[in-house]
Amino acid sequence: MERIATIKDMRQCIQKLKRSGKTIGFVPTMGYLHEGHLSLVDEAKKHCDVIIMSIFVNPTQFDPHGDFDSYPRDIKRDEALAESHGTDIIFYPDTKDMYPSEILTWVNVEKITDVLCGARRKGHFRGVTTVVTKLFNIVKPDIAVFGQKDAQQAAVISKMVEDLNMDIEIKLAPIVREADGLAMSSRNVRLSREDRKNAKVLSQSLFMIKEGIAKGEELSGLLKKAKNNILETPGAQLDYLEARSYPNLEAVNTYDGRCLVAIAVFFGDVRLIDNILIENVS
Ligand code: AMP
Repeated sequence: MERIATIKDMRQCIQKLKRSGKTIGFVPTMGYLHEGHLSLVDEAKKHCDVIIMSIFVNPTQFDPHGDFDSYPRDIKRDEALAESHGTDIIFYPDTKDMYPSEILTWVNVEKITDVLCGARRKGHFRGVTTVVTKLFNIVKPDIAVFGQKDAQQAAVISKMVEDLNMDIEIKLAPIVREADGLAMSSRNVRLSREDRKNAKVLSQSLFMIKEGIAKGEELSGLLKKAKNNILETPGAQLDYLEARSYPNLEAVNTYDGRCLVAIAVFFGDVRLIDNILIENVS
């Protein structure tokens, strides 16, 4: 596995790969890798000759008082995991290389960034779409793989690629979960032992809603029941639990054959998100 730490070296490497006719699959991450990230590498490998993973904790997508400083980082561990999983190149630029001066140019997807996480984390998606555009311009991938774990992010990136005619195919990969159902996340290691145990309430709520829908129960009643479950869970503070159309993210009050149910819950200062796409259930 090749390790590339600067934009200059990455560009040289991409030029060589393009000249030799190789197709490039790209997996952007913020590191502290887990099976969820590695499943994206597996997906990319199905379609491309060379797999590049970026590892960059992007400051412009964090809230001013968010967890940028405490976000887990361990590049040696990430290198070993990425290599053992068949990643060809990891690209880990530093912040000065990515943002050498004050950034005055932003990529902003409207409307679908005003809801769910976008409504609570002002500027978050602007940071995501801007850094992903920068990474796309550096890596020039044929395909890029994102996780359905961040369903709103996946919708936002797909819309950006469509609206700006970016010549990149976006592939989505399913959510990878721990044995108790908790969606894998780099942030899970920041949970206390007690909170980690209780964090399964996110996926349990989503699965309960899906089962209820399959039995023909009302969406609104199921959302209310799930909210009560979360209220009763020690340490859990609900940020949102909402049903929306996907990928347009319009509010949905009754189930009409397909909807996204998305949830965000705080345990202390650790914010966890999860979601389920409910379709073809009855
Ligand atoms: P992150 O490092 O959290 O920014 O995530 C990098 C990529 O991995 C994003 O496309 C995420 O959606 C994806 N990802 C994170 N967790 C999971 C998971 N549990 N299952 C599938 N994909 C994931």
